[in-house]
Amino acid sequence: MEYLVLFVLFVFGLTVGSFLNVLIYRFSERENLKGILKGRSYCPNCKTPIKWYDNIPLISYLVLKGRCRHCGWKIPLRYPLVELLGGITPVVVYLLYSDQGWLTVFSYTLMVYILLVISLIDWKTFEVPDTLSLGGLVAGLALSFFRPDITSTESFIAALIGAGVVVLLILLYYFLKGIVPLGLGDAKVLAMIGAFEGYTGVYCSLFLGAIFALLFFLPQVVRNRSLQFAVPFVPFLSLGAVIGLLCRKLGILSFLYGGA
Ligand SMILES: [Zn+2]
Repeated sequence: MEYLVLFVLFVFGLTVGSFLNVLIYRFSERENLKGILKGRSYCPNCKTPIKWYDNIPLISYLVLKGRCRHCGWKIPLRYPLVELLGGITPVVVYLLYSDQGWLTVFSYTLMVYILLVISLIDWKTFEVPDTLSLGGLVAGLALSFFRPDITSTESFIAALIGAGVVVLLILLYYFLKGIVPLGLGDAKVLAMIGAFEGYTGVYCSLFLGAIFALLFFLPQVVRNRSLQFAVPFVPFLSLGAVIGLLCRKLGILSFLYGGA
């Protein structure tokens, strides 16, 4: 029975992953919201609409050997990877949090999906669409009223801390060095993570995110001998937040806010 649930979640997640690809592409191309939500999928290269049988998550990529059926355009590996992550996400969240009920599983799955989309948009464009970060923040706050695993108080305070810490860092760096290492987009994202994942989310996201970003960009820092280049920070915040899901489940860090 358990395996059947996991299988259904995986298949459901694959199809959502396919939709996430569409969101990533269309937000990156700055289409308006109406255009983003409606209309069929088409090949980004030759604009030919994609038939349903060429749009089956993972399978179509393998069958087509990673190329568009019409123009032979090499489909970036990002597409099957996002589909795969889309499938894995609800499975992992379910394994961690099924004891907290379906709404909790839904909430964390939604959070990871939003983080996945905005990470890739940030990576490509250095921008985070407010529709997704603020929309996610509102959803996270609203869901906290009905979830057994987090109080709405924690959700709201963690969101405030998340946004506040980033704004504080921005001001501090600006006055000390005259540079701004983070953007308001990062503040909104960390607020959203706090709303969904509480204090653990904010801690893990910020500290692990900073460490991952530092390690990742270290070669570039050494080469340029400076820290003054723009980096997309959201992917690292998101990675920290995902690891935070495990920490929260295991109760790691809960001593920081007097939890059990
Ligand atoms: Zn094509």
